[in-house]
Amino acid sequence: MFRSLMRMLDGRTADLDARERRRFFVYAYRSTGASRTALTFGMPLLFLIGWARDFVVQPEGADAAFTRRALLFGTLIALALLVRLRRLGYWAELALVAYACAFSAGISMTTLADPQRLSLMHVIAVLMVIILLPFALHRSTLAALVVVFFVPLFAVLARLQAPLSLWWAYLAYGVVGIGIGLAYRRSSLDASLDVFQLRQRLLSRLQLDSLTDVLNRDGWQAHGERLFEQCRREGRPVSVAYFDLDHFKQINDTHGHAEGDAVLRATATLIRQHTRPECVIARPGGEEFLALLPDADEDGAFQYAGRIRAAVRAMDGPVTTTISGGVAEARADDTLVQLVARADAAMLEAKRRGRNRILRPGGPAAGADAMANDDR
Ligand code: GH3
Ligand code: MG
Ligand code: MG
Repeated sequence: MFRSLMRMLDGRTADLDARERRRFFVYAYRSTGASRTALTFGMPLLFLIGWARDFVVQPEGADAAFTRRALLFGTLIALALLVRLRRLGYWAELALVAYACAFSAGISMTTLADPQRLSLMHVIAVLMVIILLPFALHRSTLAALVVVFFVPLFAVLARLQAPLSLWWAYLAYGVVGIGIGLAYRRSSLDASLDVFQLRQRLLSRLQLDSLTDVLNRDGWQAHGERLFEQCRREGRPVSVAYFDLDHFKQINDTHGHAEGDAVLRATATLIRQHTRPECVIARPGGEEFLALLPDADEDGAFQYAGRIRAAVRAMDGPVTTTISGGVAEARADDTLVQLVARADAAMLEAKRRGRNRILRPGGPAAGADAMANDDR
């Protein structure tokens, strides 16, 4: 019940989880920047236009109203500048409500000074609700904007002791106006969401290796760095395993590049099968693979890499191959680049010692570690 109500109000945005929703709002807020600017700076003009109209129709009245209208115009321009301030960040939507509040108070004042304008005030209030609601991303902003426009309208009706029929008529206009505003908001949210999701998909594609479907170098930098930082913050151990297929050039040269590609794909699949979902796996280039292993110390990473080495060796298919690797655990002052460099150095040492083995930095020099992972 609640869910379908939210869906009616927010369209497909209602199905997003909290994190995705926040990201979408940031995107939607940025993408409507130009319209917001035009709107916030355009609204004060209404008071100037009203004054110009008075000046033509009844110049004496216009003179009397000049100070009031100039004050409203100035206040709104100052508020519009405030709303546009990028530094407001999260508070920008609240600033929009404050701005709408000042605008609505302005038209109420004008109406009280000149009750003949009551119907005009009402039209403006309804129009503003229709125009502003699509910019109200949060539901609380939405409710606040409706209150900001309709409470002063009904306060003015009470002050002018309007007949009951007028109350009903304006209430009906109000309901229709809010209905149109909500529908407009929902369709603009849905349209923005389409573009947002397409953009997200494209961005994540750019970080994927199209051959093996694991992350590419950019993806490693983005996701690896994020997970690494998270582990550091939370004081969890974190390790890296660096793999490189052995004599891979020979596979290409002997069986052709298509077969080489198939081996790369099979290796990636195998690594994925042996790796927990929270780890980050990447092919930074060539026939090399990286895995970032949260909650794994050097021993854990060593065992893990050993399992992958054994599985690559046992891999089915027309081509048999082996893999070498190096593992390293992050030290207190490591950056991810330093950590990868140590795992890389260990991997190169494994190559030097004859390939098809896993090494770790600082392990026994003569290769006890190597032997533990070496079944030749
Ligand atoms: P080592 O055991 O010392 O690592 O020898 P290697 O032959 O594996 O290493 P080397 O760096 O000499 O050769 C790597 C080869 O990987 C050369 C390159 O043609 C091939 N390669 C790189 N990217 C791809 C790819 O996407 N597909 C295929 N099929 N081959 C690739
Ligand atoms: Mg190689
Ligand atoms: Mg290589």
